[in-house]
Amino acid sequence: MNNVVKVNPLNPDKDVMERAANIIKRGGLVAFPTETVYGLGANAKSDDSCGKIYIAKGRPSDNPLIVHISSMEQLYDVASRIPDFIAEKLHTIWPGPLTVVLPKGNIGKVATGGLDTVAVRMPAHKVPLDLIRRSGLPIAAPSANRSGKPSPVYASEVREDLDERVDMIIDGGPAFFGVESTVIMFKEEEILILRPGAFSAEDIKEIFGMKVTVSSNLEGAPRAPGMKYRHYAPSKKMFLADSEEYIQQKCRQRGNFVVLCSYELSRKIDCPTILLGSRKDLYEVARNLFPSFRKLDKSEYEYGIIEPFEEKGIGLAIMNRIKKATEGK
Ligand code: AMP
Ligand code: MG
Repeated sequence: MNNVVKVNPLNPDKDVMERAANIIKRGGLVAFPTETVYGLGANAKSDDSCGKIYIAKGRPSDNPLIVHISSMEQLYDVASRIPDFIAEKLHTIWPGPLTVVLPKGNIGKVATGGLDTVAVRMPAHKVPLDLIRRSGLPIAAPSANRSGKPSPVYASEVREDLDERVDMIIDGGPAFFGVESTVIMFKEEEILILRPGAFSAEDIKEIFGMKVTVSSNLEGAPRAPGMKYRHYAPSKKMFLADSEEYIQQKCRQRGNFVVLCSYELSRKIDCPTILLGSRKDLYEVARNLFPSFRKLDKSEYEYGIIEPFEEKGIGLAIMNRIKKATEGK
């Protein structure tokens, strides 16, 4: 089906955006680029429209969606009981890859997976911002992949997973970060990171001046509903190496595997590789991470071994995705 339309991400074509907004208003599904990964969007106010997202993705119905907005007025509509200091901070941070979980406002039960809270963010990308403004609606949009598969960084990957299940795919080139937004929640004097992402824990701490805890590291801590599901994973087996030396040793023994690694490590091993970027530029590694999982699946090798990265800045999100994809192997 020819439902893929190319746009300039910095100046999307008005006619295309108008068509996309009409699809959203009529209850259809539009996939679009954001600064994190590609999203699969529908009218967040409509239970019927949001229901189509779950069906297209094969997503469990208790795993809530992120509601995307383009103005602070929309925040006060979809969420409620927002402390002033949080609204002030969000006003300065947004648009950007930070999602906040708040008590729900005027929003349906399908977008929130039946919870009394809603996850909200304002994306820093012209395409979704324009789509939200033109349709006059908040847009619920999880990542535009089939449930369980790696999130899409390219429109071609959306097509691979969803194709005729969506009414339109807007191709605005690669998503900028390549990992999803950071999901946070406020708990008394603390901020819980429910999912590490493109917005760093260090920045959250500095901006809010509060204690920040990564809740996936805590026993019995509140968790993002999505955490219980297998995520971000290639279909083939992948193992996380605990050191560079381990990979060097495996390469000397040989076997039917490929190594997902940095340029730096690739120069030291004599082994097939899928390159992730430079260790000195974790943003590059983040952009190549999910596409590398898809490359592993398409490769001739039986399994993959992936190099560990430093859990600093966006490295925390990179390692979170790698650990989920390897499930502690
Ligand atoms: P996705 O957009 O596919 O990356 O998934 C959205 C993420 O946000 C999932 O991990 C959800 O579990 C999380 N999320 C959405 N709404 C809530 C909420 N009300 N409370 C906690 N986590 C949420
Ligand atoms: Mg997702």
